[in-house]
Amino acid sequence: MPFSDFLGNSRIVAALRGVLVTARVPHAMLFAGPRGVGKFTLARMFAQAANCQRLTDDFCGECGPCQTIFRLQNTSALVEQGLIERGEGADSATVERVPLVLETHPDVWAIVPDPVRLKNPVVRPILHVGQLRAVQRAAYFKPLARRRVFIIDGAETMRWDHANIFLKILEEPPETASLILLAPNP
Ligand SMILES: [Zn+2]
Repeated sequence: MPFSDFLGNSRIVAALRGVLVTARVPHAMLFAGPRGVGKFTLARMFAQAANCQRLTDDFCGECGPCQTIFRLQNTSALVEQGLIERGEGADSATVERVPLVLETHPDVWAIVPDPVRLKNPVVRPILHVGQLRAVQRAAYFKPLARRRVFIIDGAETMRWDHANIFLKILEEPPETASLILLAPNP
Protein backbone atom coordinates (compact mmCIF):
# COMPACT_ATOMS: atom_id res chain seq x y z
CA MET A 1 0.00 0.00 0.00
CA PRO A 2 2.70 2.54 -0.90
CA PHE A 3 2.28 6.12 -2.09
CA SER A 4 1.81 4.78 -5.62
CA ASP A 5 -1.65 3.66 -4.50
CA PHE A 6 -2.67 7.28 -4.02
CA LEU A 7 -4.96 8.27 -6.86
CA GLY A 8 -4.26 11.95 -6.82
CA ASN A 9 -1.77 14.71 -7.39
CA SER A 10 1.53 12.96 -8.13
CA ARG A 11 3.44 16.25 -7.94
CA ILE A 12 2.42 16.68 -4.30
CA VAL A 13 3.30 13.07 -3.52
CA ALA A 14 6.75 13.60 -5.07
CA ALA A 15 7.23 16.73 -2.96
CA LEU A 16 6.27 14.89 0.23
CA ARG A 17 8.64 12.03 -0.55
CA GLY A 18 11.32 14.62 -1.22
CA VAL A 19 11.09 16.19 2.22
CA LEU A 20 11.16 12.78 3.90
CA VAL A 21 14.44 12.01 2.16
CA THR A 22 16.12 15.28 3.16
CA ALA A 23 15.09 14.72 6.79
CA ARG A 24 14.07 18.38 6.85
CA VAL A 25 10.42 17.66 7.31
CA PRO A 26 8.23 20.76 7.70
CA HIS A 27 6.67 21.19 11.14
CA ALA A 28 3.46 22.50 9.61
CA MET A 29 1.74 21.80 6.31
CA LEU A 30 -1.61 22.68 4.82
CA PHE A 31 -3.43 20.31 2.49
CA ALA A 32 -6.18 22.35 0.85
CA GLY A 33 -8.81 21.07 -1.52
CA PRO A 34 -12.48 20.17 -1.74
CA ARG A 35 -14.00 17.27 0.17
CA GLY A 36 -13.26 13.86 -1.23
CA VAL A 37 -9.95 14.54 -2.98
CA GLY A 38 -8.04 12.39 -0.50
CA LYS A 39 -6.48 14.95 1.82
CA PHE A 40 -6.91 12.71 4.86
CA THR A 41 -5.65 9.64 2.99
CA LEU A 42 -2.54 11.50 1.87
CA ALA A 43 -1.89 12.82 5.39
CA ARG A 44 -2.24 9.30 6.79
CA MET A 45 0.14 7.96 4.13
CA PHE A 46 2.63 10.66 5.04
CA ALA A 47 2.41 9.61 8.70
CA GLN A 48 3.08 6.01 7.67
CA ALA A 49 6.07 6.97 5.51
CA ALA A 50 7.47 9.11 8.35
CA ASN A 51 7.35 6.10 10.68
CA CYS A 52 7.77 3.04 8.43
CA GLN A 53 10.39 0.64 9.74
CA ARG A 54 11.57 -0.41 6.28
CA LEU A 55 11.42 2.67 4.08
CA THR A 56 12.29 6.32 4.51
CA ASP A 57 10.48 8.10 1.68
CA ASP A 58 7.62 5.65 1.22
CA PHE A 59 5.85 3.07 3.35
CA CYS A 60 5.66 -0.72 3.14
CA GLY A 61 2.17 -1.07 4.56
CA GLU A 62 3.23 -4.22 6.38
CA CYS A 63 5.44 -3.28 9.34
CA GLY A 64 3.96 -2.55 12.77
CA PRO A 65 3.73 1.26 12.49
CA CYS A 66 2.38 1.07 8.92
CA GLN A 67 -0.41 -1.25 9.96
CA THR A 68 -1.44 0.53 13.13
CA ILE A 69 -1.37 3.96 11.48
CA PHE A 70 -3.46 2.61 8.60
CA ARG A 71 -6.30 1.95 11.04
CA LEU A 72 -6.61 5.71 11.54
CA GLN A 73 -8.33 5.81 8.16
CA ASN A 74 -11.54 4.54 9.75
CA THR A 75 -12.31 7.89 11.32
CA SER A 76 -16.06 7.47 11.79
CA ALA A 77 -15.63 4.30 13.87
CA LEU A 78 -12.89 5.97 15.94
CA VAL A 79 -15.07 9.04 16.53
CA GLU A 80 -17.93 6.84 17.65
CA GLN A 81 -15.65 4.93 20.00
CA GLY A 82 -14.25 8.19 21.43
CA LEU A 83 -17.73 9.55 22.09
CA ILE A 84 -18.79 6.36 23.84
CA GLU A 85 -15.67 6.40 26.02
CA ARG A 86 -16.32 10.03 26.96
CA GLY A 87 -19.95 9.39 27.72
CA GLU A 88 -22.81 10.42 25.51
CA GLY A 89 -24.15 12.98 27.93
CA ALA A 90 -20.90 14.95 28.10
CA ASP A 91 -21.34 18.62 29.05
CA SER A 92 -19.24 21.39 27.53
CA ALA A 93 -16.61 21.31 30.29
CA THR A 94 -16.13 17.57 29.78
CA VAL A 95 -15.83 18.09 26.02
CA GLU A 96 -12.82 20.37 26.65
CA ARG A 97 -11.34 18.28 29.46
CA VAL A 98 -11.60 15.02 27.51
CA PRO A 99 -10.73 16.16 24.01
CA LEU A 100 -11.71 13.90 21.14
CA VAL A 101 -8.44 12.55 19.77
CA LEU A 102 -8.26 9.71 17.26
CA GLU A 103 -5.18 7.57 17.86
CA THR A 104 -4.26 4.10 16.64
CA HIS A 105 -0.47 4.60 17.02
CA PRO A 106 0.91 6.74 19.86
CA ASP A 107 2.82 9.00 17.46
CA VAL A 108 0.01 9.77 15.08
CA TRP A 109 -3.10 11.63 16.09
CA ALA A 110 -6.02 12.86 14.08
CA ILE A 111 -8.39 15.46 15.42
CA VAL A 112 -11.66 16.06 13.66
CA PRO A 113 -14.52 18.49 14.38
CA ASP A 114 -16.16 17.14 17.53
CA PRO A 115 -19.81 16.11 17.05
CA VAL A 116 -20.05 16.27 20.88
CA ARG A 117 -22.81 13.70 21.41
CA LEU A 118 -23.98 10.63 19.62
CA LYS A 119 -27.58 11.02 20.67
CA ASN A 120 -27.76 14.80 20.31
CA PRO A 121 -25.44 15.63 17.43
CA VAL A 122 -24.60 19.31 17.10
CA VAL A 123 -25.58 21.05 13.89
CA ARG A 124 -22.05 22.08 12.99
CA PRO A 125 -19.23 20.17 14.65
CA ILE A 126 -16.13 22.28 15.32
CA LEU A 127 -12.59 21.73 16.54
CA HIS A 128 -12.63 22.51 20.24
CA VAL A 129 -9.97 24.40 22.13
CA GLY A 130 -9.27 21.33 24.27
CA GLN A 131 -8.37 19.36 21.15
CA LEU A 132 -5.99 22.07 19.94
CA ARG A 133 -4.32 22.36 23.36
CA ALA A 134 -3.83 18.59 23.51
CA VAL A 135 -2.05 18.68 20.15
CA GLN A 136 0.04 21.70 21.12
CA ARG A 137 1.31 19.90 24.23
CA ALA A 138 1.86 16.53 22.61
CA ALA A 139 3.85 18.04 19.73
CA TYR A 140 6.84 18.35 22.06
CA PHE A 141 6.77 14.75 23.30
CA LYS A 142 9.50 12.45 22.00
CA PRO A 143 8.19 10.08 19.35
CA LEU A 144 8.11 6.35 20.01
CA ALA A 145 8.94 5.69 16.35
CA ARG A 146 10.47 8.52 14.27
CA ARG A 147 8.01 11.39 13.97
CA ARG A 148 4.86 12.55 15.64
CA VAL A 149 2.27 13.53 13.07
CA PHE A 150 -0.90 15.44 13.92
CA ILE A 151 -3.63 15.53 11.31
CA ILE A 152 -5.97 18.45 11.94
CA ASP A 153 -9.06 17.72 9.88
CA GLY A 154 -11.63 20.46 9.33
CA ALA A 155 -9.09 23.15 10.23
CA GLU A 156 -11.54 25.77 8.93
CA THR A 157 -13.86 25.01 11.87
CA MET A 158 -11.47 26.25 14.56
CA ARG A 159 -12.12 29.71 15.94
CA TRP A 160 -9.62 32.40 14.95
CA ASP A 161 -8.71 33.14 18.57
CA HIS A 162 -8.23 29.44 19.28
CA ALA A 163 -5.92 29.04 16.29
CA ASN A 164 -3.40 31.16 18.25
CA ILE A 165 -2.68 28.05 20.30
CA PHE A 166 -0.61 26.83 17.37
CA LEU A 167 1.52 29.99 17.24
CA LYS A 168 3.97 28.48 19.72
CA ILE A 169 4.48 25.54 17.38
CA LEU A 170 5.21 27.92 14.53
CA GLU A 171 7.56 30.02 16.65
CA GLU A 172 9.32 27.15 18.44
CA PRO A 173 8.98 24.27 16.02
CA PRO A 174 9.19 20.86 17.67
CA GLU A 175 12.04 18.85 16.14
CA THR A 176 10.19 15.63 15.68
CA ALA A 177 6.59 16.61 14.99
CA SER A 178 4.59 17.71 11.99
CA LEU A 179 1.15 19.28 11.93
CA ILE A 180 -0.91 18.70 8.82
CA LEU A 181 -3.91 20.97 8.52
CA LEU A 182 -6.70 19.91 6.18
CA ALA A 183 -9.12 22.52 4.86
CA PRO A 184 -11.29 23.13 1.79
CA ASN A 185 -9.20 26.19 0.84
CA PRO A 186 -6.07 28.03 2.04
ZN1 LIG B 1 6.18 0.06 6.94
